[in-house]
Amino acid sequence: MQYLWGVLILLAIGGVIGLLLAVADKAFSVKEDERLEPLTNLLPGINCGTCGYPGCKEMAQGMLKGEVKFVSQCKPSRPDARKSIKEYLDTHPDESGNIVNIQL
Ligand code: SF4
Repeated sequence: MQYLWGVLILLAIGGVIGLLLAVADKAFSVKEDERLEPLTNLLPGINCGTCGYPGCKEMAQGMLKGEVKFVSQCKPSRPDARKSIKEYLDTHPDESGNIVNIQL
C-alpha cells in the first residue's frame, strides 16, 4: 500500500511539472518569422561564413531584418538563386505588409 502512495505522489508531481512546462512553453515561446525557413533553403546551405554571418540561417535572418542590402553578399550563391531570393522577398511581405528592400 505504501508503494501505491509513492507512485501516486510521483504521478502528481510529474503532472504538475508537465502542466507548468506547457504553460511556460506557451507564455515564453518566440514566434519565428515564417519566411525564415524557405529563405534559408534558397541559400546555398554550406554555412561558410563568407557573408559575415555564422551561417545561412543567420544570413537569412539578416535579410529579414533589413541588415543585408545585397543578396550577392552571399558569394557562393548562383545568379539564378539570387534572383529567386529577391523574388521571394519581393512577394512575401511581413505581417505588417512591409517588403524587404534588397538588391541583387
Ligand atoms: S556566404 Fe552564403 S553560403 Fe556562406 S554562410 Fe553566408 S549565406 Fe551561407
